[in-house]
Amino acid sequence: MSSDQVHLGHRARKRFGQNFLHDEYIIDGIVSAINPLSDDILVEIGPGLGALTEPVGREVDHFHVVELDRDLAERLRHHPFLSSKLTIHEGDAMQFDFGQLLQEDKQLRIFGNLPYNVSTPLIFHLLTFHDKVQDMHFMLQKEVVNRLAAGPGTKAYGRLTVMAQYYCKVVPVLEVPPSAFKPAPKVDSAVVRLVPYDVLPHPTTSLKWLERVCREGFNQRRKTIRNCYKGLLSAETLEELGINPSMRPEGLTIEQFVAMANWLDANHKAA
Ligand code: SAM
Repeated sequence: MSSDQVHLGHRARKRFGQNFLHDEYIIDGIVSAINPLSDDILVEIGPGLGALTEPVGREVDHFHVVELDRDLAERLRHHPFLSSKLTIHEGDAMQFDFGQLLQEDKQLRIFGNLPYNVSTPLIFHLLTFHDKVQDMHFMLQKEVVNRLAAGPGTKAYGRLTVMAQYYCKVVPVLEVPPSAFKPAPKVDSAVVRLVPYDVLPHPTTSLKWLERVCREGFNQRRKTIRNCYKGLLSAETLEELGINPSMRPEGLTIEQFVAMANWLDANHKAA
């Protein structure tokens, strides 16, 4: 075992995606991007050894953390100055009901250096709370940030892009090299800001249909739109919706995916 895998007396657990931040300059950059304020309802996912938790804890009196690793949650309970400021939710963020943390009409501000092994399903889970969230700041694999921020017609554009941009404005904030972590991950990382829209720019009447047209489109990237959606949408209907049936589905904008979903919702029984 290399010394790189033991940080502050804790042996990093790969199965929990543990790569601890130790670069003060990067940590400062992330905390400035979050800009925690004392009356915010802040929630950190995966506080770990406190790299972000400590500087945020210097700015605010109270916040929530969700940590799966029992030993790390226990360390936080005994932390010299954080223990009195934190409500520690020991458990899996993917099962966590973030809605329970809402107070009156105040929305949540969620942040974290996410475990990379579960970051995509975790983002899908968090998007279900979009109307309860003011903003989210996450450290992710750079490739995942590229997918979140991608535009139509690019390789990175996919189901994650469409669902994230359906709900949120996506702003890449900072790139982070492997050397900022212990142990160093094999990939580059980046911080992204997700800001859920108060009013969705292209609302769908059926999330189920939206999810289905995305799934079918991105599972068959090489097909034309006409062939990909055969049996669901005729070439005439596609043209009526302003969609060129000879294009590839990865060229569809979010507005066009929504137009297909809404047409299917109005003209078919169920997704
Ligand atoms: N925030 C710390 C830092 O920046 O150094 C740790 C980041 S580390 C990449 C990910 C953290 O998330 C670890 O503390 C890990 O135990 C925790 N974690 C992993 N899976 C989790 C899950 N499903 N729910 C909540 N926390 C999780």
